[in-house]
Amino acid sequence: MGGAVAVGSRWAVAVALFSLAAAATPPRFTVGTASAARGQKAMGVLEVPPGVDALTRIPVAVVHGAKPGPVLALVAGAHGTEYASILALEELIQKLDPAPLAGTVIIVPLVNVASFEQKVPHVNPVDGKSMNRMYPGKADGTQTERASYVITREVVERSDHLIDLHGGDLDESLRPYSYWTPTGNAKQDAVSRQMVLAFGLDHIIIASDRPRDPAASRYLENTATTRGKASITVEAGYAGVSDPEDVAALVSGCLSVMRYLKMLPGASTPVEHPVWIERVASLTSTETGIFYPLVRRGSYVEEGMKVGYVTDYVGRPLLEARAPAAGVVLYIGALPSMKKGDAILNVGVLAKSP
Ligand SMILES: [Zn+2]
Repeated sequence: MGGAVAVGSRWAVAVALFSLAAAATPPRFTVGTASAARGQKAMGVLEVPPGVDALTRIPVAVVHGAKPGPVLALVAGAHGTEYASILALEELIQKLDPAPLAGTVIIVPLVNVASFEQKVPHVNPVDGKSMNRMYPGKADGTQTERASYVITREVVERSDHLIDLHGGDLDESLRPYSYWTPTGNAKQDAVSRQMVLAFGLDHIIIASDRPRDPAASRYLENTATTRGKASITVEAGYAGVSDPEDVAALVSGCLSVMRYLKMLPGASTPVEHPVWIERVASLTSTETGIFYPLVRRGSYVEEGMKVGYVTDYVGRPLLEARAPAAGVVLYIGALPSMKKGDAILNVGVLAKSP
């Protein structure tokens, strides 16, 4: 209906205020085919239509709180074999109760369904692209680009905050850590800093090298960050292992951030003694062969220290892997299979003054 009706100005103001309040807490929140009434939970899929390659359906759950509050997106499985992060969100879908919740949680537990089903690390096997490098996506691109486009519109743009969950992939032995992405916007940075501390992982990378252009945001979290939404990335789990401790750390981290955002009652439990990391130094293999690690994830190394070696398939040495910087081993190759160009390890260089 759009008929012109003369109304008193006070009534018009009251209607406008009511509309604002209603816009902040819509009676129904729909993402893809998941449509939850206020105080309810719904499951469904984000449909990514077919294009130059096949369609995909990305699972999604919406927990629409009984009370008003912010919209938080929790996303995992861009890399479909980073299992601990996927299982953490599966647990949260079951665990989150809309009754005490203030606000709305959009949960996307497994972005890269083909990677999960086919046990292919790092990329979407449909088009060979990483599902955390193609944001904000393209409506007419390959499947990864189209999926990124749908997630940008349906999940990122409708959220106030986002947490992107990752972990060590099948070939990565990783110690848990998170990323804080400062933008220069003091207000947004203060909130994202409190979120990353509230999450509870004690090693935090200061990611100051992310693209600033929202049209070329590349990463999921950065797509939210460059759109003014305080957001973080977290990593736990390694090498196909779903360690209950890692899953629990991710679940309790999300709940603690929700307490910080006042979406749940109670106080958040921030990290007391964070280890801030100012830079990540990477070493990639220049040889193809068998990798033998000599240090473990989480070890502290000196620059130049021998961290592993690569031999050919009859045991002749090809490469001595040496730490590219002093710091903490964020991850090291988890498998004997090593080909030229693969990551051997990432060392986190500690920040001098956080
Ligand atoms: Zn990942």
